[in-house]
Amino acid sequence: MTASTSLSGNSRPEPAISHDVAQLKDWDRNVVWHAFTQMQEYDPFIVQSAQGCTLIDVDGREYIDGVSSLWCNVHGHRHPKLDQAIRDQLDRVAHFTNLGGSNDTTIRLAKKLVDVAPEGLNHVFFSDSGATAVEAGLKMAFQYWRQCDHPQPTKTRYITLQESYHGDTIGSVSIGGMAMFHDLFKPLLFEPIRCPVPDTYRLPSGVAPLEACDFYLQQLEALLAQHADEVAAVVIEPLVQGAAGMVMHPTGFLAGVRELTQRYDVLMIADEVAVGMGRTGKLFACEHEHVVPDIVCLGKGLSGGYLPVAATIATTEVWSAFLGEHHEAKTFFHGHTFGGNPLGAAVSLASLELFEEEQTLQEMQPKIERLATHLSQIAKLPGVGDTRQRGLMAGIEIVKDQETREPFPWSDRKGHQVCQHAIANGVWLRPLGNVVVIMPPLCVSLDQLDTICGAACEGIRALDRADG
Ligand code: PLP
Repeated sequence: MTASTSLSGNSRPEPAISHDVAQLKDWDRNVVWHAFTQMQEYDPFIVQSAQGCTLIDVDGREYIDGVSSLWCNVHGHRHPKLDQAIRDQLDRVAHFTNLGGSNDTTIRLAKKLVDVAPEGLNHVFFSDSGATAVEAGLKMAFQYWRQCDHPQPTKTRYITLQESYHGDTIGSVSIGGMAMFHDLFKPLLFEPIRCPVPDTYRLPSGVAPLEACDFYLQQLEALLAQHADEVAAVVIEPLVQGAAGMVMHPTGFLAGVRELTQRYDVLMIADEVAVGMGRTGKLFACEHEHVVPDIVCLGKGLSGGYLPVAATIATTEVWSAFLGEHHEAKTFFHGHTFGGNPLGAAVSLASLELFEEEQTLQEMQPKIERLATHLSQIAKLPGVGDTRQRGLMAGIEIVKDQETREPFPWSDRKGHQVCQHAIANGVWLRPLGNVVVIMPPLCVSLDQLDTICGAACEGIRALDRADG
C-alpha cells in the first residue's frame, strides 16, 4: 500500500499511541465482531486518528475518507468547532436523561432542528441511531391512528419500497426490502405492503424514462386505493435509496408520494438518515420537491458524524394526538436511555451552526459539479453500466452486460475488488455489491475529489484488465 495523500488544514494529530500493532490486528480479527463483515475473511483496517477528510491507520498510512466513515461525517474529522463543543459540554454535564427531564443543550438542539426543518415539523423525539429513529417513527404513526381526533385503529400496516433499507432493528428490518440482509429473519418480522422500487436505471420494459415517475406513482396509488384503510404510513427514503445501491428515484416521485398520502389519508414517514444533513445538496432531501412529511427521521450526519445522535421529527398534527390526561394513556411509551444525550446534542448543534458559518451547502456546488464531470468520464469505462449522483452521493454500477444491464452475481464482488484497489492507493471506499459508492464528507476539497474519483477509475480499469 502507498500513502498517497497528505494532511491539510488543521495541525497534524498527535503521533499514534504506541501499541503492538500485530496484537491489535489479532484482537480486531478475533475479539471484535464487526458489523456486516464476514469475520472469517476480515482483513483489519484500523484507523487510529483522522484529520479533515484524511484517515490514518495504525501503520501510519493515510487514506482519503471517500465514504464519510459510512455516510455520516459532514465537516471533516477533528473539526476544531465540533471538538470544542464536546469539550465544553463535558465541563458541564456528559449525560442526563430525556425521560421526564432535560438539559439546556438538548433543548437548544431541538429548537434549532425545528427552525431548519421543513416548515411544520415542530416536535423532536431523540434517539441514538438511524434504526431507532425509524422505529420511533413507525410506532408514532401506529399510535397516532388510535388516538388522533378521527381514530382509525385498522391502520396498522406500512407501505414501503422494495429494496429499501431503514436499519437493523426488527421494526426497521420488517419494512426493509433487501433480501440479502432481511430474508433470513422473516419469521421474526411483520409484513409490509411492498411497492416496486422507483428505479430510474432499470425501468420496467416498455416504460420510457420520462414516463417513469407517473408509472411508479400509479403503482403506489393502486396499493393505496386497495389498502388505505389498513395503512398507517408510507415509509420512503427520499430521492435516493442508498443501501439499495444509490438507486435514484425519478424527479417528482417524492412530491407525488406526498400528494397521494394526503389524498388517501395515510401518514408519510421520510427516512432522511442517509440523505439528510446536506448530502443531496440541501439540508433535507425533501426540500428538493418542497415536501413536508408527517414524520422525518434523521441520524448519521446529524452530529456531523461524531456521536450516535438521531431524531424523529413530527408535525403538530401528529404530536397533538399524544396529548391527554394521564389516565387516557396517550403517552408515547417509547424511549432510549441515551436519547437527547447532551454531548451528542452539543456536537449536533455545533454541526448545524457550521452549515451557516462555513456556508457548507453553497460551498458544495462546485464539488457537485466536479463529481459530475468525473462520473461522466467514468461512465465511458468498460464494465460501467451506470453512474448516478445526487449532490455528493454517487454510485458507479459495474455490470456484466452494458447493453442488457445484467448485473454480476453478488458473489463476484466486483465493487469490493474496485474498492480494494482504491484502498491500496490511499482512498478508503466501501461498496454496495457491484456498486462503488462515492460519498465524501461535504468539506472534501476539489483535489481530494479528483483523487477519490481517480482511484475509483483506476480500480475499474484494473478490473477490466483482470477480466480481459
Ligand atoms: N435509514 C437509512 C436510509 C440508512 O441508510 C441507514 C443506514 O445506512 C439507516 C436507516 C440505519 O441507520 P443506523 O445504522 O444508524 O441504525
